[in-house]
Amino acid sequence: MGSSFIYSCSNCGYSFDFMLGIGFAYSPDSFYRFNWDEEENMWCYDKQNMWLSVIKSKKMLQEIKDIMMSKNGRLIENYGYGLYYSKSCKKIYNRFYFELYYNEDGQMKVFIPKYFDEHKKELIRINAGDVSKVAIECPKCKGTEFMEGIGPCWD
Ligand SMILES: [Zn+2]
Repeated sequence: MGSSFIYSCSNCGYSFDFMLGIGFAYSPDSFYRFNWDEEENMWCYDKQNMWLSVIKSKKMLQEIKDIMMSKNGRLIENYGYGLYYSKSCKKIYNRFYFELYYNEDGQMKVFIPKYFDEHKKELIRINAGDVSKVAIECPKCKGTEFMEGIGPCWD
């Protein structure tokens, strides 16, 4: 079961909800299940597959498919929703973290997804405990003081 994290602006009350961890539907088995998508003309996750909701980039999906299908890729069971920080936007993003180990030219490699902000700058992964250590700005009032709270669990 996943947990969540709420961050609210001390000035205007605007709040952000972030999901952490994973729900029951994100089984590693379903990660390995690609289907041929006639519309997209590529191997893709089934519409009901939860992984399709977290891997939104077609380019990334294609990369993952190649790793899983031809490079003996393995999903490491340390995955889930996490927090990412953008220094240029002063914003926290909620993105899905995972690691794939695979073999290429006899070498063990690791694939970790990269995510980007509106300015095409790469997001930095941070822990929930580190949110108070980075500079963020309220999108509504530009305030910089926030209160943290624990949100509801989800699955
Ligand atoms: Zn605010």
